Amino acid sequence: MHEFSLMASVLSTAEDRAQEANAIKITNISLTIGRLTEVMPDALQFAHQVLTEGTIAEGSTLKMTIIEPRSRCLVCGLEYEHDRYHRTCPACQALACELLQGHELFIDSIEVENAD
Ligand SMILES: [Zn+2]
Repeated sequence: MHEFSLMASVLSTAEDRAQEANAIKITNISLTIGRLTEVMPDALQFAHQVLTEGTIAEGSTLKMTIIEPRSRCLVCGLEYEHDRYHRTCPACQALACELLQGHELFIDSIEVENAD
């Protein structure tokens, strides 16, 4: 389960940050995920629910921003969005393109609650 190991490492980072901030609770975790990582948002949401049980992140929300793949054609310079399988330039049909985005996978922000 790719999503479970991914979520486990996200949560471990989030808990480290929360501890550094003397937080008692994690209330939200925001992630940015490129479509080409093939991470399934539903599976990640489920992993989050299961793995946060009994931790300081229990009851927190998980926000995900999905980044669609985007490339630049090396022949005509056009920038375009595409899916995993169709990377041909829509303007000149060239196959030579440079991927600009779509492989992102990082934590945007972690929201915590402090003890007063
Ligand atoms: Zn082109």
